Amino acid sequence: DSTPGDPLQDARPRQVHGALWSKVQPTPVPAPRLVAYSKEVVELLGLDEETLRSAGFVQVLSGNALWPGMVPYAANYGGHQFGNWAGQLGDGRAIVLGELLAPGGKRYELQLKGAGRTPYSRRADGRAVLRSSIREFLCSEAMHHLGVPTTRALSLVATGDEVIRDMFYDGHPQAEPGAIVCRVAPSFLRFGNFELCTSRGDLGLLQQLAGYTLKHFFPELGEPSKESYAAFFREVARRTARLIAHWQAVGFVHGVMNTDNMSILGLTIDYGPYGWVDDFNPGWTPNTTDAQEHRYRYGNQPAIGMWNVERLGMALFPLLEEQEALVEEGLAEYQRTFSVEMSQRFAAKLGLSTLEADADVALVNDCFAWLAAYETDMTLFFRGLSQVVTAPEVPRELPRVVRNAFYGEVPEAHVARVLEWLTAWWQRTRREDAPPETLARRMDAVNPKYVLRNWLAQEAIDAAHAGDDSKVHELLDVMRRPFDEQPGREAYAAKRPEWARSKPGCSAL
Ligand code: AMP
Ligand code: MG
Ligand code: MG
Repeated sequence: DSTPGDPLQDARPRQVHGALWSKVQPTPVPAPRLVAYSKEVVELLGLDEETLRSAGFVQVLSGNALWPGMVPYAANYGGHQFGNWAGQLGDGRAIVLGELLAPGGKRYELQLKGAGRTPYSRRADGRAVLRSSIREFLCSEAMHHLGVPTTRALSLVATGDEVIRDMFYDGHPQAEPGAIVCRVAPSFLRFGNFELCTSRGDLGLLQQLAGYTLKHFFPELGEPSKESYAAFFREVARRTARLIAHWQAVGFVHGVMNTDNMSILGLTIDYGPYGWVDDFNPGWTPNTTDAQEHRYRYGNQPAIGMWNVERLGMALFPLLEEQEALVEEGLAEYQRTFSVEMSQRFAAKLGLSTLEADADVALVNDCFAWLAAYETDMTLFFRGLSQVVTAPEVPRELPRVVRNAFYGEVPEAHVARVLEWLTAWWQRTRREDAPPETLARRMDAVNPKYVLRNWLAQEAIDAAHAGDDSKVHELLDVMRRPFDEQPGREAYAAKRPEWARSKPGCSAL
């Protein structure tokens, strides 16, 4: 279906066959204004803050100008959305500007999200709103500082344009300020890139893509062969399992784990309607479009990760010479890795060096059970434990830090159950070979005090809509040190206020 004419200018929606990407030009915006940037990413790329803030560079970050050597493109991929094969999707509003060679020789792709239409935009406008751009910008950086693998965000630019969206609270179209985030990652390749080739029977393209991926991102696996592709598949399975265990440990819910949103490098990618667990509810999803099935709920992320890995396995099937055992090995690798990572992470959250016996596993499972029984703030609860572990004696009543994590009144029977759990846990910590003060320090290094709770992001968005960007800057700064006590900033570690109870995250658009 390729269309004649200048391929550099052609953004008409179309099926793109025989190609993994299309050249496109960002669509200019009227009045770009730099709202925020990440100084860590500036440094990572070997740029400097002055250059970044310069008018000329803001033009590049808004898609109004290109640096010499930039050849912008949109990637072609497909994906399984909510369990169903959706065919070609592609970068409908993301445009890669090119690769930047950073100090130390690492390469990073710079990608503008919201830079205008591409052949993959279908009927949509290729734009992003300030609301969702603030959320992507802040969360990418917050995740990085938590130690969770993620794409990064260099900059957030307001475009001066208005974008029409159906606010999903009332369904009425509204004009909202537009924005562009410049995302940064070694690669934005997704499971869906591989799936699309195979779904079309384009094995030549699949081979080309897999060969490129191996050469540039997994060189240690060797030359293309059935064996190296199998090793690649196992490695992606491992990274995905590790990533999702990490999400579970910090209470992050992605919200749209479609296979087009699964990074081949095991990064968190595509921040849309994500959310952070406030009260520990395994059934919770921030995505209002997933309200029926709750497919992408917190408690289902591990299983979905595995389902997605299996889709990748099927996409790689021709390269694995259709040996089912090689797919099975990858899936087994996922399960093994996930279960090890999960127990290590939750052991660490409880101050334990390992879950050494069935009794320890039972302790963790029991904790999940009572946490879910009455609304209890996950972040506050785990953070508070470092104060309990240093108590000189077994707690005789429920410590205030734990009580504070409850959202409402809880019956006495529940208090008794939690106290019983705390007693068992406190006694177990005494069998660790480090003093309680050391355990407390270790726990504070894995149980964040500050996470990007939905209501915090929402307050920053509301202020930005009213012309005040300072809350975006403040939040970015708080999230730089999620594990540190930050005196004077306790409000950022507070429980979800009642007004934010059922506030959805943010629509995918
Ligand atoms: P997402 O659910 O955000 O991962 O997006 C799924 C697909 O829809 C991807 O191909 C996106 O590029 C595309 N898409 C989402 N929003 C827009 C938009 N405003 N304009 C064009 N394409 C979009
Ligand atoms: Mg996406
Ligand atoms: Mg998206």
